[in-house]
Amino acid sequence: MSDTPAAVDGEILARAEAAYLGLALGDALGATVEFMTPREIAHHHGIHREIVGGGWLRLKPGQVTDDTTMALALGECILANDGRVEALACARAFDAWMRAKPVDIGNTVRRNLIRFRNTGEPQGPLSGYDAGNGAAMRVLPVALATFGRPEAEVRAACRAQAHVTHHNAASDAACEFLALAVQDFLRGDSLQQVFRNRVRPLVAAHPAFAFRERPRRENPSGWVVETLQAVLQSVVDVGGFEHCLVDVVNRGGDADTTGAIAGMLAGALYGREALPARWLKALDPQVREACVGQARRLLA
Ligand code: MN
Ligand code: MN
Repeated sequence: MSDTPAAVDGEILARAEAAYLGLALGDALGATVEFMTPREIAHHHGIHREIVGGGWLRLKPGQVTDDTTMALALGECILANDGRVEALACARAFDAWMRAKPVDIGNTVRRNLIRFRNTGEPQGPLSGYDAGNGAAMRVLPVALATFGRPEAEVRAACRAQAHVTHHNAASDAACEFLALAVQDFLRGDSLQQVFRNRVRPLVAAHPAFAFRERPRRENPSGWVVETLQAVLQSVVDVGGFEHCLVDVVNRGGDADTTGAIAGMLAGALYGREALPARWLKALDPQVREACVGQARRLLA
């Protein structure tokens, strides 16, 4: 595998880098206001629009959380596995990630990784309790590794990594939607095209995801349905990378994760030039390099 993928179009690579950086930027921006209400955010920050750290995790400015570090762990696992996404390799990688004491970890992720330790079985049973957003937040490396492959393979790869911690129909729908939408944006599809080809079919198949029929969600929870509703309300109905991320994180709730997921979509859609320079400067340099490096290697 080459470090400089000559076969990959420069524009596609730039969008892939923007998607990965967007994920980290949204995570770092949103983490400051995670679990706050919009009222509390307005009281403390006015409109929260700078990467300053803090929050309940007391982060350093530019530090990211599990959303980004789990994606990076998954990406390294895929690269070490010659581009394949296999449940057992993913489970081992996530288990190693948990042993390294991440700054935060979702309940469903922890519970299912402990199940893996106890049983050796990489995929959990189908469960109505596993509809958290933890599999969706880390799906980006799968989208990059399977770019250009048949849709059925993309969907299967999404589920292979997801079912390690979240074996759930709503989570699967969200993961597959996100990976395919990112791939469409990488190819240069417009927001209108992705709305027609991906968002509408998602809502038709899973009406719970309908996002315009509901009031703009405040405090989106870690339930993947509420997470994706907030993300879609921002990405579809608010224009521009920065506006979209500021809009979604100021709703509070699971703001690092809504920020991360909105950031990966908006990064792929709006591209490298749309990422605010002051945010990139604030982001932990090691994370910045890891995101760019993985984007290149996963596409190669
Ligand atoms: Mn997080
Ligand atoms: Mn979160």
